[in-house]
Amino acid sequence: MTTVTRGTTPATAPRTLRFGEHTVTWLPDGHVQLDPRRWLPDSTAADWAGRNAALLDPDGFLTASIGALLIRHGDRAMLVDAGFGPHAVPAENTHPALGALVGGQLPAALDAVGVDPAAIELIAFSHLHDDHLGWALRPGPGLASPFVNAAFAASAAEWSHWARPAAGSSRTRTVGGGEEVFPGVTAWPTPGHTAGHTSYVLTSGERRLIAFGDLFHTPAQLARPDWRVVVDAHPERGAEARRALLAELARPGTAGFANHFSGAVFGRLANHSGTPCWEPLEEFY
Ligand SMILES: [Zn+2]
Repeated sequence: MTTVTRGTTPATAPRTLRFGEHTVTWLPDGHVQLDPRRWLPDSTAADWAGRNAALLDPDGFLTASIGALLIRHGDRAMLVDAGFGPHAVPAENTHPALGALVGGQLPAALDAVGVDPAAIELIAFSHLHDDHLGWALRPGPGLASPFVNAAFAASAAEWSHWARPAAGSSRTRTVGGGEEVFPGVTAWPTPGHTAGHTSYVLTSGERRLIAFGDLFHTPAQLARPDWRVVVDAHPERGAEARRALLAELARPGTAGFANHFSGAVFGRLANHSGTPCWEPLEEFY
């Protein structure tokens, strides 16, 4: 019997790559199903019938990974985003464009790479949607965040838009465009998905890794940056930010970190007969 596997399964184990003086690690937390035509309402059935069909699971969903990026430099460590947290939401209780939404693995992933949550000095949020802040701001009823020593950073527009429990507390920090939040890591405002969505650019010499949050949820969007995402707060600005990111990813020495790209969160923008695509990275250089 032949088993045909379709869809891209999120990695359930952490993945570490060297990046110059830094080490970067994907910390999986869970996954969410996205209904491709509801999530990307400008796409048509034909868009998901060709090569993109391989991105869909047998039920026709995109399976997006959820997790965090651990960045280490010497004995210092930070995260970009903090997963969904110890929660599981069945499909009937999520947004109509989503299926099931599940988190919970991130502390085990951190443990597997030998990092104590207390050693994380900073969690820099791309934006304040639930699947990016869980273990920092929604660690479970009656539970404290395991990141007891971390400052929580987001743009001013994010903090002011969302009534998050930590907003305005002594732990929170506001990051502005161009600000270096950690050695080699700079904030890059990329609003549109949310009012204050921020990408983080890790630079080591001539090489860059751009952690681009929710600018893209699936590699299928790389060829169609103008497709709206149904939950984008400002659709035109979202498209502008996606085009700006594509231009940056096309520059030499640049790789990307895509927290929702399931089996291929680290990659590089490539080209298949004129169509932009995602080339997963096994190692950086
Ligand atoms: Zn997200």
